[in-house]
Amino acid sequence: MQRRDVLRWLSSGVGAGGVAFAPSRGLAFQPPSAAAPAARGLPPLRITDVKTVLTAPNGIRLVVVKVTTSEPGLYGVGCATFTQRAYAVDTAVEKYLRPFLLGRNPDEIEDIWQSSYVSSYWRNGPVLFNAMSGVDEALWDIKAKRASMPLYQLLGGKVRKGADLYYHASGRDFAEVEDQVRWAVERGFRHVRIQVAVEGVSTYGAGGAAGAAAAGEDGPTNPTRVWEPSAYVRLVPRLFEHIRAKVGEEVELLHDVHERVTLPQAVQLCKELEKYRPFFIEDPLPPEENEHFRILRQQTSAPLAMGELFNTQHEYVPLVAGRLVDFIRCHVSQIGGLSMARKVAALCEFFGVRTAWHGPGDTSPVGHASQLALELASYNFGIHEGAGFPPETRDVFRGCPEVKDGYMLASEAPGHGIEVDEKLAAKFPYPEGPTFDYNWGRTRRRDGTVIRP
Ligand SMILES: [Mg+2]
Repeated sequence: MQRRDVLRWLSSGVGAGGVAFAPSRGLAFQPPSAAAPAARGLPPLRITDVKTVLTAPNGIRLVVVKVTTSEPGLYGVGCATFTQRAYAVDTAVEKYLRPFLLGRNPDEIEDIWQSSYVSSYWRNGPVLFNAMSGVDEALWDIKAKRASMPLYQLLGGKVRKGADLYYHASGRDFAEVEDQVRWAVERGFRHVRIQVAVEGVSTYGAGGAAGAAAAGEDGPTNPTRVWEPSAYVRLVPRLFEHIRAKVGEEVELLHDVHERVTLPQAVQLCKELEKYRPFFIEDPLPPEENEHFRILRQQTSAPLAMGELFNTQHEYVPLVAGRLVDFIRCHVSQIGGLSMARKVAALCEFFGVRTAWHGPGDTSPVGHASQLALELASYNFGIHEGAGFPPETRDVFRGCPEVKDGYMLASEAPGHGIEVDEKLAAKFPYPEGPTFDYNWGRTRRRDGTVIRP
């Protein structure tokens, strides 16, 4: 036996288990049995490639990172989707993380995260964290594949059978929203987010409402999409009243304010919505006004969800530790991937905060699968955003999590359970021109002041 093998065997604990050192067998070293997998370890690995897959099967720019290893056929995929700055993330992965990580041991997930984090010296931010997330989730995928386990097993195993989903219902008027709520409930969804257009203004999350578009180029002196919050604050309680009256008490109702009101308006709106028992009210205020949650929290019993725009611990730790929100809404790839998300989930458990990771269409199926694994293994899971994947997306990402009876269910295949069909992905190039990805920064107050977001 080589000295290296003897050391590995000694440190494996087999010797201490009494087999090799049993008096009847003397003190002679015995080679580890092939039937003792704990003693075998796994063969050494290194990272041989890190690359991006850019694809838009549903018209939304998705960024996926693929990490290849020295073991033939063993690779992992992770979500790095920052759809509004997809090419910046692509550059961060290919030009900076790739050369930093080639040759590294993919088993060292935490060290790769920590060293990548400081590798740019100036750190944080959505571009660098999304790039890191793509690598991070790919490494978890690789490790779970090596263990021949679905990812949720590596994270502690299931504490629930599936993740409750919430469906997005939006409409031009109450009747349209009601129809969509009924549609979702009939298909097994127990949670529905409701958004309605406000006449005359450009409303968040309400399809078909273009708002008061004026001719000419958008700018502070010529706002083309106008938002004013007063009518909205009056209308939303009436929407809740309507849905409760028409659809009943059982369905859980959610709503996203999308930061578009002042603190006093947020207080008024949340207090008025209390009697309709919302599941949560999301992003009542922008992240720049985190301290306002201390005031809002004292004023209302409406459950508060916050955080899809957060990047760093400096933003979410005070809200969680202060028990100022009920649901954390971080976008998993935006905070650096699964390694950071599982720390955030654990932190939240101790403060009675539940997870509601951000997850609409601008999270790739790989990202959904990654956060689903964490949700299945987290005691303090709250809700999963989304209703499944369109057919083109399912074709590119083979093995997407299934949706059944209002739950998202994990694949039992090793890792994320998703194979990315790169040839098919290439047939869905990024759309150019003004699409969903370029909407922000163009909605303004009537006087031309740009709004957040
Ligand atoms: Mg939101």
